[in-house]
Amino acid sequence: MIASSPELANELRKIVGHDHVLTENDLTAGYSVDWTGRFVGSTPIVVRPSNTEETASVVELLNRNSIPLVPQGGNTGLVGGSIPMSREVLLSLKRLNTLEPVDDLALQVTVGAGATLAQTQAHVRDHNFEIGVDLAARDSCTIGGMIATNAGGINVLRYGAMREQLIGVEAVMSDGTVIKHLEGLEKDNTGYHLPSLLAGSEGTLAIITKARLRLRPRLTEKVTALIAFESVHDAVAVSTRLRQKLPSLHALEAIFSSAMTLVSAHIGAQIPIGPNGKAWLLVEVASGTDPFEEFQQALQNCGDTILDVAVATDDRSRSKLWQFREQITEAIAVTGTPHKLDVTIGLSRLEKFIDEIPKVVKRADPNSLTYLFGHLGDGNVHVNVVGIDGSEPSNVVESAVLGYVASLGGSISAEHGIGIAKKSYLHLNRTSDELRFFRNIKKALDPNNIMHPNCMLSD
Ligand SMILES: Cc1cc2nc3c(=O)[nH]c(=O)nc-3n(C[C@H](O)[C@H](O)[C@H](O)COP(=O)(O)OP(=O)(O)OC[C@H]3O[C@@H](n4cnc5c(N)ncnc54)[C@H](O)[C@@H]3O)c2cc1C
Repeated sequence: MIASSPELANELRKIVGHDHVLTENDLTAGYSVDWTGRFVGSTPIVVRPSNTEETASVVELLNRNSIPLVPQGGNTGLVGGSIPMSREVLLSLKRLNTLEPVDDLALQVTVGAGATLAQTQAHVRDHNFEIGVDLAARDSCTIGGMIATNAGGINVLRYGAMREQLIGVEAVMSDGTVIKHLEGLEKDNTGYHLPSLLAGSEGTLAIITKARLRLRPRLTEKVTALIAFESVHDAVAVSTRLRQKLPSLHALEAIFSSAMTLVSAHIGAQIPIGPNGKAWLLVEVASGTDPFEEFQQALQNCGDTILDVAVATDDRSRSKLWQFREQITEAIAVTGTPHKLDVTIGLSRLEKFIDEIPKVVKRADPNSLTYLFGHLGDGNVHVNVVGIDGSEPSNVVESAVLGYVASLGGSISAEHGIGIAKKSYLHLNRTSDELRFFRNIKKALDPNNIMHPNCMLSD
């Protein structure tokens, strides 16, 4: 039995080599704070395996000694799930970044869990393919982390979330056993579907080491439009009409007024259209042939509720419009440490929610500011709350917002997961029977409770 951290570090060095076991505080500190700065933990050891075999040996060693671990990919998660909050060993998977040849016949690719989304996108783009999930953290987030959180992003309305892209996985189970099912057969009803279970498991059941992903055709013809509205009601109504009428619809994002004001100031621009608007839709259509006319026709059929539209067809102007959506997270981060509440609301209740939620937040913490934006095509609103002076808002805000979401029949986590931040609220969406079965699954796959034991499920 291993009795001390130095002894454990020595054993880990035998597996991954001297340079890939970090124990000095100044080297481990960067792995122990999350992207928002809200979750700060600590770890005695960061271990960085380079392949599946090393990962399996590390996990086997930790399991044999009942030592808990936290898996980490790009550390862009927004619910504290990638951070060792109870001095667990930090297992960094970024070196598992192999990119296997694109399978042009099957329209699939196998990649290592540590490959970033941007690396994977670049790898398949040469073959005229795209990955079905895209998000603003693409340069840092890893395929393994995206599967573990079942990441969503901007194209869910067309291709689904990460679970829908996943056709097979290789994973290290809690005892160090490697399970591999990467043949990529589209029809394969041979028992339980492990990839579905691991998608969204947030590192609590197994370590994903490789993934077989479906590829989507690269649609080079794109048109992007920013559309301003006087009311949330009008924006929601138009979003529904666009979803009905536009087969080439690729992204349908929403920005509400305080977020639009903040992001415009952050990127040093004026609000581009509808300066007094209440809501803006950022809409992108993509196709193999020019979708402009189809888009124009659909907008003309939306009635007279549109205040103003800015349309961009070339890459430069399209990315200028996207800045108003993709820079919001950064704009908020520079104002202070946000509490990020990522929720789904049924579209019939969205207008009420957008009107009410700043009041709900103010009642809980009068010294806070609320910024609202999100993936409207999926009813997904990001509620970001910061203290007026940049400090963290009161934790009461969290329970007030999530309680309100649950009262409207919404989900307390649309795409970021539960992590550390939301585990005490999981009961708002899941019955005690469901939670009992969740714990049974966890116990069956991880009897020693070493796989990220402080994440997602409360005791
Ligand atoms: C600017 C910005 C924009 C974002 N936009 C979106 C968005 O649009 N949609 C969205 O869904 N998310 C978004 N996110 C959140 C984040 O990028 C995603 O959750 C992403 O999937 C996390 O990937 P990661 O590699 O950084 O994982 P990490 O943050 O390192 O880890 C996330 C979770 O997965 C576990 N994990 C990581 N790797 C593995 C593995 N190989 N095996 C098992 N478990 C593992 C960790 O333990 C943790 O619980 C955004 C974040 C930022 C900073």
